[in-house]
Amino acid sequence: MFLGHYAVGLVAKKAVPRVSLGTLFLAGQLVDLLWPLFLLLGLEHARIDPGNTAVTPLDFYDYPITHSLIGAILWSGGLGLAYAFLKKDRRAAVVVGLLVFSHWVLDLITHRPDLSLGLGGSTYFGLGLWNSVAGTLIAEFGLFAAGIVLYTRTTTPINRIGSIGFWSLIGLLTLIYIGNITGPPPPSASLIAVVGNASWLFVLWAYWVDKHRTLKPS
Ligand SMILES: [Zn+2]
Repeated sequence: MFLGHYAVGLVAKKAVPRVSLGTLFLAGQLVDLLWPLFLLLGLEHARIDPGNTAVTPLDFYDYPITHSLIGAILWSGGLGLAYAFLKKDRRAAVVVGLLVFSHWVLDLITHRPDLSLGLGGSTYFGLGLWNSVAGTLIAEFGLFAAGIVLYTRTTTPINRIGSIGFWSLIGLLTLIYIGNITGPPPPSASLIAVVGNASWLFVLWAYWVDKHRTLKPS
């Protein structure tokens, strides 16, 4: 899943309007932001495997640190606690923690069974929505559209960065997703490990844009 992870961040703005969209993106995408780093370090592994599912040409055969159920629980607790400690806002910290965990739930729905329980073992979870291109597109774009509607109902731009900056972020995420779906498989897993780190840009971009928007009076 790609757009869906950003969508939950946009949706969450309604629940915790004072939390920056950057933090909400960071939480919803945390394990995918860390995944390229673990690939680079050789601690997790993936390979190119066209046809692995109808949607993705990647075989996520070893990524338990970022994508096991226990890993997801630990990352959720970790970021939630860090947020509570830094910002002293318990409610927002719970939402941040839940957002981190939502990543695993959305991946559970979309991935083939490649999500492990813990570091080892032979039990793998995944409901395989990725076997259906139509189903995946409906889920991704449906969630993303809902997120955009809720975020733009909660906040309003105070200048051009808040409007043009926001819509260019949405546009670029959409283009990247369409490129991923329609383009050829990536040439190598090591390229993904390098290029994947660029996703941090969307987190920074969201912090920047969110600063140039204000909450709508409710
Ligand atoms: Zn993921």
